[in-house]
Amino acid sequence: MKPYAEMTKEELIALRKELKAQYREMQGKDLRLDMSRGKPSVEQLDLSMGMMDVLSSNDDLTCEDGTDCRNYGVLTGIDEAKELLADMMEVNPDLIIIYGNSSLNVMYDTVSRSMTHGVMGNTPWCKLDKVKFLCPVPGYDRHFAITEYFGIEMINVPMTKDGPDMDMVEELVSTDSAIKGIWCVPKYSNPQGYSYSDETVRRFARLKPAAPDFRIYWDNAYGVHHLYDHDQDHLIEILAECKRAGNPDLVYKFASTSKISFPGSGIACIAASLNNLEDIKRQLKFQTIGHDKVNQLRHVRFFRNIHGMVEHMRRHADIIRPKFEAVEEILERELGGLGIGEWTMPKGGYFISFDSLDGCAKEIVARCKKAGVVMTGAGATYPYGKDPDDRNIRIAPTYPPLGDLITATELFSLCVKLTSVEKLLKTMD
Ligand code: PMP
Repeated sequence: MKPYAEMTKEELIALRKELKAQYREMQGKDLRLDMSRGKPSVEQLDLSMGMMDVLSSNDDLTCEDGTDCRNYGVLTGIDEAKELLADMMEVNPDLIIIYGNSSLNVMYDTVSRSMTHGVMGNTPWCKLDKVKFLCPVPGYDRHFAITEYFGIEMINVPMTKDGPDMDMVEELVSTDSAIKGIWCVPKYSNPQGYSYSDETVRRFARLKPAAPDFRIYWDNAYGVHHLYDHDQDHLIEILAECKRAGNPDLVYKFASTSKISFPGSGIACIAASLNNLEDIKRQLKFQTIGHDKVNQLRHVRFFRNIHGMVEHMRRHADIIRPKFEAVEEILERELGGLGIGEWTMPKGGYFISFDSLDGCAKEIVARCKKAGVVMTGAGATYPYGKDPDDRNIRIAPTYPPLGDLITATELFSLCVKLTSVEKLLKTMD
């Protein structure tokens, strides 16, 4: 089929009729499918069930340093968990604090502390007239929700295949002292699956912020989440690069085992310079006597070391790779060459990002919903839920079983076609 934009009005009207009939048929199937959130599937969760067996009532829950994990204490996490997560984060274990079950919680807490108590002796943000964050778009809705919740003004920065538009980042960060942070998902980004290039990481490390309390929020949520064995993205390690650039305190690095072990029951951590860690600990000691050491120990005993984790991630990849490939194949088969959509083909992470013709995304998602397939809300990938071009849709292939995913993606493609035809016809009126 030729590109829709090259079709005559008559051809488009005939096509609309055909697509509407197909859509009605799909509606008749009474589908109930969910492609909205990036959750692991049941099979993926099953991979970690062994974690339930590594600690039993007969086991000794003593750490290597003699700490009894059943009791209070150890503010920043047990050494063996630090070692495991430090390897995962590619940093020195001394630069890590282990938290509880969620990295989002750590990010929220970091923004919250900056609001009430300031960053390393600087004025608390709540006492300033204006606080702003840069938001590479499209991006992760829950990041944007945190900054929106605290009344922080969000500024869109376009993403490229190499990361955020660094000319814009450098210009804004160096001239506006109200800009206190930037949300980054540097590897297999949410939602495009892009990884920052070496140059982007180097430029981040060499930023010269107008605000002394500006920090890069480097959310490495997908650091070990490759889909392929032999074609993987590797990033320059940002903490070391910042140090090299004479900017050791510029970055907070976040991660968790949410999509490695159990989302919501994993372990999360922050990595940062010793100065930043001291600043954080001043607050942390009032928040808790220590996080869940039993869970930390369970993770260490299950994975053993980074090699065990890498092997475990291969098993995840074996489950989700066919799902990503199925979505990509269907999109290519149904939409390839029609000029009505573009999508990413990530080598890792949890999402595929789809761009429709301008002004179509909301309608496509609504149509999918009316036929029983829930997608992530259009606009969710932008601050304030506002996609200025109404074209980005996040596809989350991991959760549904393959058969459902195929049906859902076929329906999605149909909705893209129908909505695009209607859009083009409208422009001809
Ligand atoms: N960061 C990113 C970029 C994510 O995609 C997700 C999960 N969707 C999270 C953080 C959530 O992490 P956690 O479960 O550790 O709070």
